[in-house]
Amino acid sequence: MEPNRQTTPRPIADEEQHDASLRPKVFDEYVGQEKVKERLRTAVQAAKFRGEPLDHVLVSGPPGLGKTTLAAILAAEMGVALHVTSGPAIEKKGDLAGIVTGLQEGDFLFIDEIHRLPSVVEENLYPAMEDFRFDVVLGEGPHAKSIRLELPRFTLIGATTRSGLLTTPLRARFGIVERLEYYRTDELARILMRSSSILGVALEDDAAQELARRSRGTPRIANRILRRVRDYMQVAGLDAVSLELAQHALTQLEIDERGFDAMDRSYLEALTIKFGGGPVGLETLAAATGEAAQTLEDVYEPFLIQEGFLQRTPRGRLATPLAMRHMGVTPPSSASGQLPLLDGET
Ligand code: ADP
Repeated sequence: MEPNRQTTPRPIADEEQHDASLRPKVFDEYVGQEKVKERLRTAVQAAKFRGEPLDHVLVSGPPGLGKTTLAAILAAEMGVALHVTSGPAIEKKGDLAGIVTGLQEGDFLFIDEIHRLPSVVEENLYPAMEDFRFDVVLGEGPHAKSIRLELPRFTLIGATTRSGLLTTPLRARFGIVERLEYYRTDELARILMRSSSILGVALEDDAAQELARRSRGTPRIANRILRRVRDYMQVAGLDAVSLELAQHALTQLEIDERGFDAMDRSYLEALTIKFGGGPVGLETLAAATGEAAQTLEDVYEPFLIQEGFLQRTPRGRLATPLAMRHMGVTPPSSASGQLPLLDGET
């Protein structure tokens, strides 16, 4: 069966456009991540006070938590243009040259998935970040000439789902390094309330709480579920989203009590039932679930780890007793490793 990917926290088809209308434009609309916001606000104020570009910023965290949104807010606060690209899109040194030479003083260059930059591009990014220069080689062989281009002082905003994969020299060139965390239920409920008013949907408080609780701590998923619930509301001819309607829609979307979707469950099933709780290798789980190993690692596993269902160990993925119970499996250790009863115990 094709797994239901409804809640995979990556943008899909027309979602980019919808996202744009729901995307917060200023810090005050950006819910949660209070400490990160506070530090970035201070950095912006100080840079503006000094009349300098903002330091390079690295933001990490799972997809859909607001990295791109944050970059756009920072650019707006600094009053500069934002140029958006991604690691895999910059294939050659020449691609990077084209991008950095098109920047104006103070502009932001946002590189999504920066951990996927080819190493030859990354090496050329170092002098661009540090000294605002770019060396180009013209011609080939003994007649080759190296020319140094002076770049405007720009700000690089790097976003990554996998900060662990960043090389040390690249990481060291960011003056500001921030990590986004999964959102709390009350924060997601606030985001849902804001989105519902933009979409013109009357969302009842308890329904907002329920949707928030089952959105995998991720604003993009919360907004995606809200749009689907709005469909159910309109098809049912209702004018508000009640708790009952929200629960009905979530059941239809195959999102369970924990916010797990069909892919999460397929992963947990493979890990706990097929492989007895592990340890099992990532590639084996990818083969068993039919999902790319990288997607499992970037999208699904971080939430399962945060929820206490999964451990990554050097020997492989290991289900926690919580995951075993959730899937109705008795952990083998409790059967074989049971302590003998003492006299008098029943
Ligand atoms: P990322 O770049 O981390 O994948 P995005 O910045 O694209 O995530 O965020 C996805 C969507 O989630 C945005 O369009 C926005 O509507 C919503 N969103 C993200 N963070 C917040 C937040 N802190 N407050 C309100 N909405 C948010």
